[in-house]
Amino acid sequence: MTSESGGPRCDRGAGDAAGHLAPTENDALRRFAGIWCRAVHPLATTTMTPDEFEVYLLPLAHRLSAALCGSPFDTEAAYAVGAALVNAQCTEPEALPAILGVIDAHLVSCSSPTGHPSSAELPAAPGHEPLAEEGEPLSEEDEPLSEEEARARCVRLQHALAAGFVRELRKCERDEQEAISRAALAARTEAEKALHASEAKFQAVFEGAVIGVGIAGLDGEVLVVNDAMARMFGGMDFFRPGRNVTEFVHPDDVPGAHELYRELVNGERDHFRIEKPHYRDDGSELWTNLTVTLLRDSSGAPQYQLALAEDITEHRQLRERLRYEATHDELTGLPNRALFLERLDQMLAAGADAERFGVCYLDLDGFKAVNDSLGHVAGDRMLKAVAKRLQNCVKTPAELIARVGGDEFLALVTGPAAQTDGAGLARRMLAALAEPVRVEGRELRVRASIGVVDGRAGEIGRAEVLRSADITMYRAKAAGGNRYEIADADSNARVIARHSLTNGLPSALEKGEFFIEYQPLVRLTDGTVRGAEALVRWLHPVHGVLGPDQFIPLAEDTGLIVPLGRWVLEQAARQAREWRDADEEDGEPLRVNVNLSPCQLSHPTLVSDTVAVLENAGLCPSALCLEVTENDLIGADESALRPLRQLADLGVDIALDDFGTGYSNLSYLRRLPVSTLKLDRSFTRGMQRAPADPVDVKIVEGIVSLAHTLDLAVTVEGVETAVQAEHLRGLGCDTAQGWYYARPGPPERLHTLALADAS
Ligand code: C2E
Ligand code: CA
Ligand code: CA
Repeated sequence: MTSESGGPRCDRGAGDAAGHLAPTENDALRRFAGIWCRAVHPLATTTMTPDEFEVYLLPLAHRLSAALCGSPFDTEAAYAVGAALVNAQCTEPEALPAILGVIDAHLVSCSSPTGHPSSAELPAAPGHEPLAEEGEPLSEEDEPLSEEEARARCVRLQHALAAGFVRELRKCERDEQEAISRAALAARTEAEKALHASEAKFQAVFEGAVIGVGIAGLDGEVLVVNDAMARMFGGMDFFRPGRNVTEFVHPDDVPGAHELYRELVNGERDHFRIEKPHYRDDGSELWTNLTVTLLRDSSGAPQYQLALAEDITEHRQLRERLRYEATHDELTGLPNRALFLERLDQMLAAGADAERFGVCYLDLDGFKAVNDSLGHVAGDRMLKAVAKRLQNCVKTPAELIARVGGDEFLALVTGPAAQTDGAGLARRMLAALAEPVRVEGRELRVRASIGVVDGRAGEIGRAEVLRSADITMYRAKAAGGNRYEIADADSNARVIARHSLTNGLPSALEKGEFFIEYQPLVRLTDGTVRGAEALVRWLHPVHGVLGPDQFIPLAEDTGLIVPLGRWVLEQAARQAREWRDADEEDGEPLRVNVNLSPCQLSHPTLVSDTVAVLENAGLCPSALCLEVTENDLIGADESALRPLRQLADLGVDIALDDFGTGYSNLSYLRRLPVSTLKLDRSFTRGMQRAPADPVDVKIVEGIVSLAHTLDLAVTVEGVETAVQAEHLRGLGCDTAQGWYYARPGPPERLHTLALADAS
């Protein structure tokens, strides 16, 4: 009955008591599943391994086998098997023919008419569970199948399987498509929502923005602007249809703005940011901080330009006002030092172009006197008037005049050689100040000293220019003022030396750097020491001992002579008191001569100071002689002479120093409160050697006789030789001073000299 090759082995009742298939049938179907697996697995995209796949196929084989032998014959199971194979991913195009091929070749021979599994539910998806319980017995009445019948059934089963396969495949495809379109739909809805949200956001930002937003085409045509932008420019009308951004150009547009715009619309740059001026609809000026961004389409091609504008007009005005205030002088409105230095630095940094320049440093002469006598209000008016006149001298933008201090102005002229003439500018400035200035009903003469420095950019630094201009200005002042001087290296060096001394002067007195030497005054009749002249020296920390000629003029210029002179007077008076105390017993005490500067002469406290000094030292007035030069007294009126007269009345001796060097009328001497003439050294020089110069002799003779007629004593200066001394004694001179007797020296030495006389 059994057939190894073709015939169906549908033996009934071959199951055991538990209903299991006979081992032979089971083995045959296992083989079938094995062959099926080998044929189909390579064509399936399943994740199952071949063994797992074979286990999956076994129940399907059973169902086909059962269907083949089933009574009544039903192809439903094959249909389900087709679907199950699709679900196991046997969906490659070659898979179905392979499936059918194995069934066609082996199903009939592997099936028995009795042993078949029932058609349990097949899983929709591939699983590793067996598809059905095995060994459900057929009914007793079932008849065995003929070979022919079995093959016919096998063919129908193949058809049914193919139909189930195809339908399941379609169903899968449909499901897949549906899933895809559902997903696509969901994605689109999501995208639309997002787009809507972003558009709403953009719209809200666009409309609500405090910053101006506008979009224009690449041709510049304005497409849309928000309210803030419209407000900024004075209303929506400004952006009426058809307006083009290229119409909004301001004549003072920042340099490079046009270039940036051109690059952007040509797609060469993606954005730029500038501070830019515009005109509003009403013509007023608007400044914006403008950012323009290029908008591209999805392919990257330039499409629109987006402008974001912030109104910075007020901010800018404030900034400009602050800058103006920081760079201009409040009183006169002229540029101040900061602006001047900025321009000077710019010019000097120009370097390679080697621009020529001229700097004028102008300082008013005697401005302090105006301030002191007429008050600050008048001083300020005068400065304003001066500033206005100087400003009028400025002809071109290459010239700049600044007020850099109280009454100091700096002018700068730059440009090609022909026009950069510092001296020319200085002349113009002096000419502009020539007419008196009217202040509070008075006509005030304005005088100024100007230092001019001409140079070439890159050859001289800022500090040097300013120092040189300053020094040269002082030279103009020293030369009498109301003039200009031109800087040159030699004069600068001299002035610098002078300046360094002047700077050190004020502290020198506090630091005790001054000391006094005394030069004896000798009575010609008996050769005794009558007293000494106090001569001040400065022990300078750098320059060593400096004589009075080197610093007294500086002290006079700076006013320091008043405290210095008072100090000399105090020291000299104290010294005279010491001498007196030292030779109590000897009759006539040593006297002291002290030089007075013209500043001291006109100083209001001269008399009271002198009296106080004498009292403090406990010295009687007749022990003091004040020396005043002839020149200081020429032209002095009675009120100017009053302090001297008061001192003379108190008993202080007054000597006319350097007599003969001035041009005073001799009869004028009668008006002066002097008691001694100090004949200048120049008259006695001709008598140093015998024979004496007869002219000098005659002059001295005349002066002595005249002086004696007027009751004046005569002191001769610069006696260097014995011949000279003898000659002068013969001519009737009273007192002599000079190296022949002693050079100026420390006070102790004088006492020794005096003692030597006495002995
Ligand atoms: P002076 O008042 O005519 O003083 C005399 C000057 O002649 C002194 O110069 C003295 O050293 C110098 N001398 C004295 N004997 C001879 C001599 O035989 N031959 C020559 N060739 N020279 C002689 P010194 O000390 O340099 O003083 C110069 C001037 O400085 C003084 O001239 C005086 O005008 C001024 N001076 C000195 N001390 C003071 C001071 O305390 N106050 C003020 N205001 N001026 C002073
Ligand atoms: Ca003197
Ligand atoms: Ca003298």
